[in-house]
Amino acid sequence: PMKIIPIPCLKDNFAYLLICPETNEAAVVDPSEYEPVFKEVQNRKVRLTTIFNTHHHWDHVGGNDELSRHFPGIKIHAHISDRDRVPGQTDFLEDGDFVQFGNQKGSILHNPGHTSGAITYLFGNMAFTGDTLFSGGCGRVFEGTMEQMHHSLNVKIGKLPDDTQLFFGHEYTENNLRFAQTLEPKNEDIQSQLTQIQRVRSEGKWSTPSLLASERKINPFLRCHDQALQKHVIQEQPYSNLDPVSIFTVIRKLKDQF
Ligand code: ZN
Ligand code: FE
Repeated sequence: PMKIIPIPCLKDNFAYLLICPETNEAAVVDPSEYEPVFKEVQNRKVRLTTIFNTHHHWDHVGGNDELSRHFPGIKIHAHISDRDRVPGQTDFLEDGDFVQFGNQKGSILHNPGHTSGAITYLFGNMAFTGDTLFSGGCGRVFEGTMEQMHHSLNVKIGKLPDDTQLFFGHEYTENNLRFAQTLEPKNEDIQSQLTQIQRVRSEGKWSTPSLLASERKINPFLRCHDQALQKHVIQEQPYSNLDPVSIFTVIRKLKDQF
């Protein structure tokens, strides 16, 4: 099976080194910066052939240029609409396209919302979501509409099986869960997850990956149908509609100010 090594980058970013054990080939998801990725490639004695970018933001593509200088011929994947804004892009992906490195085969979901070209990479039950889905939260809606972001999270990613492991782009989990708690103070899953994450973080470890089954219980952006959450939203905004996109819009705006 494919091996996955989280590589902390910058302040709170994760790049992920993916290793195909049969061919010793490696790919990196979202190399924020060159140095830590290069070190991990050296340590593991693997052959880096591929970059998978989830979107064009600098904290996800910052290592592209230097990696392509040191690994000539490296393939750089991103969404077709990110042409001209992902450095060195060689492969232009659309929703449902297949990707491969070594013997490892995956596919992509187009997830507009955070950016118009945001994508999730799927390898078996492992999903690399970039800044679309975080543990306990989601990315800010910069380029798409709230409706698109809701659809990306709840329909595109939301239809994946419960045992999907989510490898997200930032260690924001503790802050996300504190916010989630303000929306659902009585949700015991959020409380126990927050306690567990605080312990994990105090040991210097990270919260990635997270299980989709667990996110369905704690992540407010996947819970816009929940009555307790809806009740809170109505208290904040007495005139808001109860359809999931309206609820999503209110809580995304509350999170922007949290
Ligand atoms: Zn981003
Ligand atoms: Fe980011």
